[in-house]
Amino acid sequence: MTFQEQSDLFKALQQSGMPLTPTLNSALEHVAGDKSMNDSFRVLLWLWRRSWGNWYPFAVKDNHRRLNLSTAPPGTAEFLTELIIGNGPCPRCNRNSDSKEPGLHPNFRWHISCLAKLYAADAITSGNQKQREWAQAVLNDAEIPSPSSYTS
Ligand SMILES: [Zn+2]
Repeated sequence: MTFQEQSDLFKALQQSGMPLTPTLNSALEHVAGDKSMNDSFRVLLWLWRRSWGNWYPFAVKDNHRRLNLSTAPPGTAEFLTELIIGNGPCPRCNRNSDSKEPGLHPNFRWHISCLAKLYAADAITSGNQKQREWAQAVLNDAEIPSPSSYTS
């Protein structure tokens, strides 16, 4: 899958109005499960998946459907990897992320706040009262833990 195809696919997903949470969760899980990746990066991805992926800072409940890679179309695994690490700009805002946060993969594509805000957008429309409160704080830039607060 070329970068352009990958980018177009994610844009189409965003414009479809479908929740992005299942795709983002699948992508974080896929890359976090890749043992060739640096351990501290994998831990970060898991923490985001476990918290933001359930629309709450430190949630552990997990009831979201996800992509099944064994039945997914060819190229899905590649798509999921490239959604997280690659040479393209941040998938949400289309500007380059040059975060130098410790523990991040050098080609991590996202602004951390952009990733949190996509999850928060789903929480606003589908979450319960507590999740919507969390999401509103994220969207107001009030409550986005920095990765160093996880790893230090
Ligand atoms: Zn961004």
